[in-house]
Amino acid sequence: MGVFKIGVLDFETVGQGSAEGSRLAGNAKPYNRTKMFTDAIKAAGHIPVVYKVEKCQMFFGEKAVILYNNKKIKGCDVLIPRIDFSLGIDLEISIIKQFQLMGIPVLNQYLPISRAKNKLRTLQILTRSKIPVPKTIIARRIQDVDEAVKRIGGYPVVIKVPFGSYGREVALLESRRSLYSALDILLRRDTTSIFLVQEYVAESDNCDYRAFVVGDKVIASMKRQARAGDFRSNLELGGTATSIALSDDEQKIAVRAAKSVGLSICGVDLLHSKNGPVVMEINANPGLKGITDASGVDVAGEIIKYAAKVAHQHKTQK
Ligand code: ADP
Repeated sequence: MGVFKIGVLDFETVGQGSAEGSRLAGNAKPYNRTKMFTDAIKAAGHIPVVYKVEKCQMFFGEKAVILYNNKKIKGCDVLIPRIDFSLGIDLEISIIKQFQLMGIPVLNQYLPISRAKNKLRTLQILTRSKIPVPKTIIARRIQDVDEAVKRIGGYPVVIKVPFGSYGREVALLESRRSLYSALDILLRRDTTSIFLVQEYVAESDNCDYRAFVVGDKVIASMKRQARAGDFRSNLELGGTATSIALSDDEQKIAVRAAKSVGLSICGVDLLHSKNGPVVMEINANPGLKGITDASGVDVAGEIIKYAAKVAHQHKTQK
C-alpha cells in the first residue's frame, strides 16, 4: 500500500484525556498519547509527523496557510486531530478545517468534531437518525425546570451543560431542593445559559459501555464502573474499566451513531436502560490507554491501519 506520512495534531500537555484532571481523580496516571500514536505509526512502517496545536498559527494573506513554529507547515498524507479544545473551540476547529482546506484527509473532520462536542447537537442528530437516547430537555429558564422534570419522569435527574467533558459538569440530583441550588451554581460558573435536564438511567447501575468505533466497525469495547459513591463512570474521575463484549445490537447502534454524526474514529458511550441500550454521548477524541489496557486490543494500531487505508484511497483517487 506504500509508506505514508501520518500526521497527529495533538496538544502539548499529556494526560489521561484531561490537561487539568480532576480533584476527585487519583488513579488517572498521565501517559503520553502522542507517543502511543507515533509508536504505532512507526510499527506499521509509516512516518509520524507531530503537530502541537499550540505551535500552529493561521496566516491569512492571499490565501490562508498554517504556520508551524513560525514557518510554513509541512504537510502529511492523512491527519489525526487529537485535541480537546482547551485553547478554545473556535481556534482549534479552524486549524483542523484549515488542514482540510489544504486537501489533506482528516480523521475526524472539523464539522463532526464540533457536532460531537455539543451535547445538544449530538442529541438532535441521534434522534433524527432514530437512535435511542435518554429523555432530555434542553432549557434556559429556571422557571421551566419543574415541568421539565415531570416530563422526563421525575426525580432523580441528571443535569449537564452542552459543552462539558470528563464528567465535570454532570450532576445527579435527587430532589427539587438540590436541583435548584445546583443549577444556580452551574449557571453562574458556566459561560452558557443553556442546560440539559436528563432522565437518570438508574438501571445502568453506575456503569456505561464504551464502543470504540474506527471506520464502520467497533474495534474494541469496555465497561466502565464509577468509583464507589459516584454515578459518573469517567476514568478521569477514578472509574475503572474492564473488558466486555458488546452485543451485535449494541455494536450496530454504536456504528450508526458514529456515522450519523459523521465521525470515523470515536468512542460511543451506551447505557443499559430498561428499554434497551441508549446512546448517552459520542466522544470525538476518546482516550486510548484505558480502552487499550481493558480490551487488550492495539487500538492505536487499528487507528493507524485505517488512517493508512484512507491515505492510500486519497492518493489513488487524485
Ligand atoms: P461527559 O461528556 O462530561 O463525560 P457524560 O454525559 O458522558 O458527560 O456523563 C458522564 C458520566 O455520567 C457518564 O459516563 C455516565 O457514567 C454518567 N451519566 C451521565 N448521564 C447519565 C444518565 N442520564 N443516567 C445515568 N448515568 C449517567
